[in-house]
Amino acid sequence: MRISTNVSSMPTSKTLEVNALAQELKKKGVNVVNLTAGEPDFPTPQPIVEAAIEALNMGLTKYTDSSGIPELRKAIADHVARRFGVSCTPEQVVVCNGGKQAIFNVLATVVNQSDEVILIDPCWVSYEPMVLLLGGKAVHVQTDFEEGFIPKPDEIEKAVRKQTRAIIINSPNNPTGAVYDEKTLLGIYEIAKEHDLLIISDEVYEPLVYDQEHLSLFAITKGDRTVLVNAFSKSHSMTGWRIGYLVAPTQIAKAAAKVQAHLTSNINSITQYAALKAFEVDTSYMKARFKERRDLVCSLLSDFRLKYRRPEGAFYVLVDVREFDEDDVNFCMNLLNKEHVALVPGSAFNAPGFVRLSFATSEELLKEGIKRIGNFIGR
Ligand code: PLP
Repeated sequence: MRISTNVSSMPTSKTLEVNALAQELKKKGVNVVNLTAGEPDFPTPQPIVEAAIEALNMGLTKYTDSSGIPELRKAIADHVARRFGVSCTPEQVVVCNGGKQAIFNVLATVVNQSDEVILIDPCWVSYEPMVLLLGGKAVHVQTDFEEGFIPKPDEIEKAVRKQTRAIIINSPNNPTGAVYDEKTLLGIYEIAKEHDLLIISDEVYEPLVYDQEHLSLFAITKGDRTVLVNAFSKSHSMTGWRIGYLVAPTQIAKAAAKVQAHLTSNINSITQYAALKAFEVDTSYMKARFKERRDLVCSLLSDFRLKYRRPEGAFYVLVDVREFDEDDVNFCMNLLNKEHVALVPGSAFNAPGFVRLSFATSEELLKEGIKRIGNFIGR
């Protein structure tokens, strides 16, 4: 059987080897400290769970509008208008199966065969496969460890060609924890205007900015040529519920809604009623805990003289392991075999020579995991 070119061109996950070994060790009863989590370790807040139970008991189990129930689209539009000071209507909102589907829906509305999308490296694992699935091409712009992984707008501009359609920006960033400053965001907006590009602003980690206020690119552009992607996954610890959304200029939102209507129809109806409750829930306790853990992890890594950039947002830290092993997959496999600590190789994010450590886990496991990393590097 022939596999389509678009699908066969999608890379296989670079984390598979490490995950497979971690599973195998666990099965054998080995005490593996897993620092790979891409999700908060808190339970979903109880009022959200109760809203879901109520919706189930009320029989709200049928198809809904494929772009989402009107109450939720309105609640999202109101929230975005309030939080970012940008006018926003429910027609601009599409409720999707996580931030992931929101990104795919938008890419599908703008990418034709051979069109290009600019990505900033290190970047989240799914952007490029989505672009490839649509027959497009991902063009990577590098950022430096020394510059805190903040992109330079003139480097981005050099990557623009006549077939460039969009640029994906992710601040706070997975995997670096970088938070882009206003000058950088304004520079990116200028380039997008100059070259008629769409900006996809992936802000799923927006509630987790530790030392300053979140600077939203969507707010800076006032929604001009910008699609905001957000989700309840990280903000409300709802990863398994599968709910995110996009807020776009109306023409793009309508096109993205059409994509979703034909691919999945509405997202789970119960999840939508549960998410309505999310706007009433204070999740600042999660941010406070993550900040404490960020500080703990940074101080432990510094104790072992490891090189990293202090994350200003999200719950990841990217550690430079080039002085121990240029091959980060090798580093992760050896660390897992010898000290039973699982990390994600940086190559998964186009950051070879680095490893990603997630602090979305208990202080106890973080201390134990980093102590073992110290043993492994002989410090
Ligand atoms: N964008 C980034 C940067 C992420 O890290 C993730 C999930 O890890 C997503 C989007 C997708 O989130 P969701 O689980 O809401 O689909």
